[in-house]
Amino acid sequence: MRKKIVAGNWKMNKTMDEAKALLSEVVNMVKDEVSGDVTVVLCPPSIYLTTSRQYIPSGGRIMLGAQNCHEKESGAYTGEVSASMLKSVGVEYVIVGHSERRQYFGETNAQLAGKVDRVLENGLTPIFCCGESLDLRENGDYVGFVKGQLTDSLFHLSAEALANVVVAYEPIWAIGTGLTASSAQAQEMHFEIRQHIADKYGDAVAQDISILYGGSANEKNAADLFSQPDVDGGLIGGASLKSRAFTDVVKAAQ
Ligand code: PEP
Repeated sequence: MRKKIVAGNWKMNKTMDEAKALLSEVVNMVKDEVSGDVTVVLCPPSIYLTTSRQYIPSGGRIMLGAQNCHEKESGAYTGEVSASMLKSVGVEYVIVGHSERRQYFGETNAQLAGKVDRVLENGLTPIFCCGESLDLRENGDYVGFVKGQLTDSLFHLSAEALANVVVAYEPIWAIGTGLTASSAQAQEMHFEIRQHIADKYGDAVAQDISILYGGSANEKNAADLFSQPDVDGGLIGGASLKSRAFTDVVKAAQ
């Protein structure tokens, strides 16, 4: 049975004091208000991961996530953070291939395959992001493009390894823009992603993979998006920076 997951990507936001305040608010609100079957992943900036671990009760529904890691296990990569380092401070999930990393840091599908491998080797769960630009959506084969991202970065994995991957479909034109994919657009692509996985790994594997939607999802549109049969939760940017909004998104997924 695939899991419902709501992950909050804080990106490069919040000072330490602000991060602590948001952590304690979200942890308390989720404890008091969420009773259904939904996993919550909080992805603060890496500098706050160790502190964040202390705010998140172990063994509960809230997991600690990182926003990125390097594709090598260790070495002379100044300024970078490895998957084993993340593991050693209690991280459980890692966002891999966010469109901002692809766009601003030139991350390639091949490089992302390496990141996925390091994350899995360390027993962590990758949240693998894929999604098309506005130009592709309007003028190109956007479904083929997203399938290619999955093929290039995930399809070297065994079925057993792939079962530990979470996919996040994030149309670039919807990220941080206030433009959300309609629930029908999200469902169309999530169905195609699941079918692509089924074509390679079989239907049983595909049915068990959680596929999250990301792109201006918030407390107002989450219930509609999450009502779609192939939408298993969300990767939330802007709305994850406000405890009330984020908790309401989590409640919409349960
Ligand atoms: C994201 O960055 O993953 C994201 C979905 O951002 P936003 O919700 O702000 O569009």
